[in-house]
Amino acid sequence: MAKDYYGILGVSGDASDGEIKKAYRKLAVRYHPDKNPGDKSAEEKFKEISHAYEILGDPQKRAQYDQFGDAAFQAGAGGFHDPFDIFRGVFSGGFGDIFGQMFGFGGEAGAGSNRGRDLEYVLQMDFLEAAKGAERKIRVRRYEPCAACAGSGAKPGTGFSTCPQCGGSGSIIQSGGFFRVSRTCALCRGSGKVIKEPCSACNGTGRKEASREIEVNIPAGVDTGTRVRVSGEGEAGLYGGAKGDLYIVISVREDENFTRKGYDVYSLVRVPFTRFVFGGEIEIAVINGNADVSLAAGTQSGRVFRLRGQGINRLDSRGAGDHFVKVEVEVPRNLNSSQKKLLRDCEASFGTGTSKKKKGLIDTVKDAFQ
Ligand SMILES: [Zn+2]
Ligand SMILES: [Zn+2]
Repeated sequence: MAKDYYGILGVSGDASDGEIKKAYRKLAVRYHPDKNPGDKSAEEKFKEISHAYEILGDPQKRAQYDQFGDAAFQAGAGGFHDPFDIFRGVFSGGFGDIFGQMFGFGGEAGAGSNRGRDLEYVLQMDFLEAAKGAERKIRVRRYEPCAACAGSGAKPGTGFSTCPQCGGSGSIIQSGGFFRVSRTCALCRGSGKVIKEPCSACNGTGRKEASREIEVNIPAGVDTGTRVRVSGEGEAGLYGGAKGDLYIVISVREDENFTRKGYDVYSLVRVPFTRFVFGGEIEIAVINGNADVSLAAGTQSGRVFRLRGQGINRLDSRGAGDHFVKVEVEVPRNLNSSQKKLLRDCEASFGTGTSKKKKGLIDTVKDAFQ
């Protein structure tokens, strides 16, 4: 049966490349097996959307699909790629072209080409956790060195022979017209050697996919979009190549008491109106505990106080931001009859209030923003 890849990603047939990528990112995060442990239907969905993205995310394949439908891909060599590879490729934006990597063209990069890829992990944190820093355990699925062959890819007890393609030099000279171009040998990936017999545990790649729990230290001050680099915790390289890095991308949940702008924190507190009238200390919550704010007698509702250095610690550890707290009047409800009487008397003694104002409306509004 023909598959509707556009429908699977929930985009229209004329969606832009950016829209397709965005749709995939959103769905992939929702259905990723790490987020839905043991849920088979989510895993199937994850595979399905990854395959749809593999086709629609590549302009050439998309054009083929538009013209011939998915029949063009079922007969193709090797079928689809590992959905986790597709996911990683999309979420490690900036670390090389996903398709180039998967088709083995990555060898062009030269000696470093066996290095494992960098991984990206989106970590959700609570507001205070992000502000104060935290240790978190996360589960990542990645390639790790194969234990059976110690990462070499060669069957234990067997060795290597000279690469038949490049004669052991690791590179191939191509000449065309005036140009002579030296390319890294694709067969041995520049090493000049090939495996005599592949390790059966890893099919000769030197690495195996595994799900691993690792502990990461998130520094105080991170915010949505911050990337925390964890060196050497990315993918194992091919044939024992160097490990890539892991990047933790932070996503901070909203908090009901605090918001932030950079390292400055904002909050709102309501206190009884008598406190505005008579003045006094009020205790407010800040990132690292509590702080006192002193209201002068006659303070107006809506006044903003700045508490220097009580905001969030800066990531570069050069001090902290400030805390801005807006203090508003809490209008009392459910008064008992004696309280009501007191306030009625109070109201009467003030007279009718607002009608006595001499200032016009414009002046009043200006005052409100001073
Ligand atoms: Zn192996
Ligand atoms: Zn070679």
